[in-house]
Amino acid sequence: MTINQSGWKPTAPAGRGDAAGATFTGNKALMLEEPLIFEIGDDQTTGVDFAAGDVAGSRLGGLTRKNPIGLPGLSEPETVRHYTRLSRQNYAIDLGLFPLGSCTMKHNPRLNEKMARLPGFADVHPLQPIDTVQGALEVIHQLAHWLVTLTGMHSVAMSPKAGAHGELCGILAIKAALKKRGEGHRKVILVPESAHGTNPATAAFAGFSVEDIPATAEGRVDTAALTARLGPDVAGVMITNPNTCGLFERDLKAISDAVHAAGGYVYCDGANFNAIVGRVRPGDLGVDAMHINLHKTFSTPHGGGGPGSGPVVFSEALTPFAPLPFVERDGDQFRLVEEENADEHHADSFGRMVAFHGQMGMFTRALTYILSHGADGLRQVAEDAVLNANYVLRRLEDTLDAPFAGSGPCMHEAIFSDRGMAPGFSTIDIAKALIDEGYHPMTMYFPLVVHGAMLVEPTETESKAALDQFIGALRSVAERAKAGDESLKTAPHFAPRARLDETLAARKPVLVWKPKLAEAQAAE
Ligand SMILES: *Cc1c(COP(=O)(O)O)cnc(C)c1O
Repeated sequence: MTINQSGWKPTAPAGRGDAAGATFTGNKALMLEEPLIFEIGDDQTTGVDFAAGDVAGSRLGGLTRKNPIGLPGLSEPETVRHYTRLSRQNYAIDLGLFPLGSCTMKHNPRLNEKMARLPGFADVHPLQPIDTVQGALEVIHQLAHWLVTLTGMHSVAMSPKAGAHGELCGILAIKAALKKRGEGHRKVILVPESAHGTNPATAAFAGFSVEDIPATAEGRVDTAALTARLGPDVAGVMITNPNTCGLFERDLKAISDAVHAAGGYVYCDGANFNAIVGRVRPGDLGVDAMHINLHKTFSTPHGGGGPGSGPVVFSEALTPFAPLPFVERDGDQFRLVEEENADEHHADSFGRMVAFHGQMGMFTRALTYILSHGADGLRQVAEDAVLNANYVLRRLEDTLDAPFAGSGPCMHEAIFSDRGMAPGFSTIDIAKALIDEGYHPMTMYFPLVVHGAMLVEPTETESKAALDQFIGALRSVAERAKAGDESLKTAPHFAPRARLDETLAARKPVLVWKPKLAEAQAAE
């Protein structure tokens, strides 16, 4: 079968959709099939008509392009429809509850969007003269003040563009501090087993070797094992608090004291700050550096790794090594400190994380969120997030195995295992069946310390009615898995795509479209 010019591939003879769901167009009612943009367009068409030029001869010298550029040519309506159709195949927080544990998929308030779109914020350019962007600098400065105050830390680097980027920023500051002390031989970073994969990846990327610290049976860091491993080769630890089992690391202060006494630094992964904002100040727990995901705790949009923002707060000890730039207040003016030698406070800065100043659009949204909640409102955010997660945990623990339910209340997320399902059934079957129920699945098979983990984070922005519906769906699917209902094995049945070969996709990703490949696939 070939792809015809207008892009659709007939999947059934002309006529009405048959009972098995095959249609002439491949569309299912208003869910439209969509080929790749290269399959719809061709490079002979463009969306723009230019008037014929009146300049004779080319002025490009030898630089005239010899071969077609290979871009798909589509008209404006074709382009708009292509991306709109693709967007409808996606799940979004604006469609429904998004229980992805550790990711804090909370509602993105529309007030944030309104503020970020004000022309004075939306249209600024990073190279504009400083006296024309005083308002934008004030936003960065105010947000920095809130982040430092809420965490009880000493300073903040605003420029990192995601949590993982923030981890790198913190670890590079630790590396610079060790070098300055003449202790560059400290090469080991200790990371608990339950850590997010970005933690060991960051430490390895920065040139450290990573050693695992085991978890206790109740899901927390084994403090005795950690302190026993401290020594002159240890640069520091990376600990997530609250941790990825949804539990608060109660020993963090004692751990920090031990790490400091042994000459190391404490990096805290602050991705789960939503559960404690307004209630706990990581600075009081001896943390030296911690990233804050503005797209988690402070309600800015998550977007395919794109528009994230991960400012890093620092202790007094690490502040001299933090990256540039900094926004500083000079009387009633704001200025940007861009050079190491600008003043004595930044001489030891390890450099820069990004070319400019960070994600201005996210700063505006996060500050809007903070100011619209106030200090008391932010505290309630944490309390409601924890309440919602405990509601999910207690309503489901009779149906799903909840390995740490006996350790007391959870924090912002509830964790379940695949224990008790019929032989041959696993977490993947529950996750896929949830898609049929209209939900994005929860985080699966993470953290690794729980077998077949299902990590559910409802966030504070879901109502009780929304939680009850989700709990009902998850209970129904879990009961089918316990009863060995074979139809679960082929779920989802109602989604445009069912079970993809995720291993092949990860091992051999096809990242570039090639006409040959498309023809071969179309002929199959
Ligand atoms: C989300 C997350 C990260 C990474 O943050 P990104 O902004 O996605 O780079 C790191 N650690 C934990 C625990 C997380 O939940």
